[in-house]
Amino acid sequence: MEKRDYYEVLGVSRDASAAEIKRAYRKLARTYHPDVNKEEDADKKFKELSEAYEVLSDDNKRAHYDRFGHQDPSMGGGGFGGAEGFGDIFDMFFGGGGRRQDPNAPRKGQDLQYVEEIDFMESVTGIEKVITIPVEEDCGTCHGSGAKPGTHPETCKRCGGSGQINIEQNTMFGRVVNRTTCTTCHGRGQVVKEPCVTCHGAGRVRKNKDVKVKIPAGIDNGQQIRLAGKGEAGVNGGPYGDLYVVVRVREHELFERVDDHIVMDMPLTFAQAALGDEIEVPTVHGRVSLKIPSGTQTNARFRLRGKGMPNVRTGHHGDQYVNVVVVTPKNLTDRQKELLREFNEISDEKGVEEQHEGVFSKIKTFFKG
Ligand SMILES: [Zn+2]
Ligand SMILES: [Zn+2]
Repeated sequence: MEKRDYYEVLGVSRDASAAEIKRAYRKLARTYHPDVNKEEDADKKFKELSEAYEVLSDDNKRAHYDRFGHQDPSMGGGGFGGAEGFGDIFDMFFGGGGRRQDPNAPRKGQDLQYVEEIDFMESVTGIEKVITIPVEEDCGTCHGSGAKPGTHPETCKRCGGSGQINIEQNTMFGRVVNRTTCTTCHGRGQVVKEPCVTCHGAGRVRKNKDVKVKIPAGIDNGQQIRLAGKGEAGVNGGPYGDLYVVVRVREHELFERVDDHIVMDMPLTFAQAALGDEIEVPTVHGRVSLKIPSGTQTNARFRLRGKGMPNVRTGHHGDQYVNVVVVTPKNLTDRQKELLREFNEISDEKGVEEQHEGVFSKIKTFFKG
């Protein structure tokens, strides 16, 4: 049977303080104590709990466990060599910046996020962009050691190379031991006597890196593209982090995207809507002609099949919806006014009444009452 992770057994996080661990242990011990709990596996659970507490409550044992997991030979487990695998699991929890990690173990570089803004039409066709991102990499002069070429960093005497020190504090709850980053080596575990002039001993330098990003056709606002290994360089020979490019699509003045469809408002004159017309409608794929039947109302919707956005995964095109907006004319000339008055006089009120399901007569009744 796989041995359970000690932190999991106690139900605490990996950066839990000594006090949290003690509290968790006491609570669980009360639940699983064989004198109290008569369930079949209570005994086994209590043993597991005691073992986890024995390791995690001891600073040295805990540091060992953090580094090697159950694989550490000094803990009676199997063979050596679990350090790297464990490092990966550790990274999942702490994103490479874990407090309790051995400073000399290989660590994956930081993942980076970059926001790239593109035009609406670029999201239709897809586009290749070159983006410049500032990344942290190993210094080329000292190859990451931080020491002047020809010299070597020395193991920190204060923390013995672990990068962590214990600080004892007297509190109202008694003496508490806190494990914290070594202030002499700042957690690196090593001290540079003669610093490299290029990176001033940091071992890392910031560089601008150009990265090509292929933005696929149909990408939607807010979607992101993962570029594996294009993030920051790893530490101590660890792998590169990933780069996430979040794509922002600028709004278009005519088109609005809804899922893979495009919605647009199409203004029509009162005469066009009443008489019908054949018009040209802009789409992201070029002009398309559309027949407007006579008597078209405002808010009528027409669908242009396959004239929408390509789906970013399947490449299938959505549709374009043309939303009619009948525009009431303003600033009429005298001649236009005259014609409209004449039109109004000869208009069949009954015809309008039919279209609006008696609303006009309801309004008349309302005024009389
Ligand atoms: Zn350097
Ligand atoms: Zn130190």
